[in-house]
Amino acid sequence: MSAIDLHARPSKEYEAKLAETQKLLIRAASEFRPLKQASSLGAEDVVITHLINALELDIPVFVLETGALHQETLDLLARTQAASRTAVEVYRPVQESVIQFVAREGKDAMYRSIELRKSCCHIRKLEPLERALAGQQAWITGLRREQSAARAEVPLVDASEVPKNGRTKLNPLANWTWGDVWHYIGANQVDYNPLHDQFYPSIGCAPCTRAISLGEDFRAGRWWWEDESAKECGLHVKQEKVAA
Ligand code: SF4
Repeated sequence: MSAIDLHARPSKEYEAKLAETQKLLIRAASEFRPLKQASSLGAEDVVITHLINALELDIPVFVLETGALHQETLDLLARTQAASRTAVEVYRPVQESVIQFVAREGKDAMYRSIELRKSCCHIRKLEPLERALAGQQAWITGLRREQSAARAEVPLVDASEVPKNGRTKLNPLANWTWGDVWHYIGANQVDYNPLHDQFYPSIGCAPCTRAISLGEDFRAGRWWWEDESAKECGLHVKQEKVAA
């Protein structure tokens, strides 16, 4: 059974949410310059990239290629680059930093402590993310309120970090359900990561992602050895939480 068969269940308000998302993307393309979509190539992100292409918007997409992605994700990246009308940029970590970290802490350091896991995320994700976002007025993410308790209040337009870094974060799928996402993928024949067909709801780096069982929490497949409260890689953590 495919992920589409398993999950595609549009909510009652699906059409209204889709229209809201399209309107926000169109508005964003003219209001914010420069502007990019951050894509992990997960289900939400392939929907947004598909909408950007379908609406012929001038919004480039970028992917953080951490050096630890599944082959399935790398294959999807290559297909997306080949098929997209819009540019798909790839940002990689500083090779020397990765080599030094692995030599010092070992390949499996992320399992030993939250600090080491966060150091790995900093080198492989956060530093490249800062490079990808340098000079951007806004960025687009696939965050949805339903994804976790920490994301329950995600707004469509988040200007809370503008005073700090001048960047607005746009979350055009904030109101979508998992069923809405898969309905869009199925209805529009969007290319997606085949790992979703193997019960991976959320796909990140290979060492830190696993399949989940039916009934398990949505985020249970990410950093499963850690407490729920620690489960963000820092890409979407508010500054005050970092300080705390
Ligand atoms: S998700 Fe895992 S492998 Fe990827 S950067 Fe974070 S700790 Fe490292």
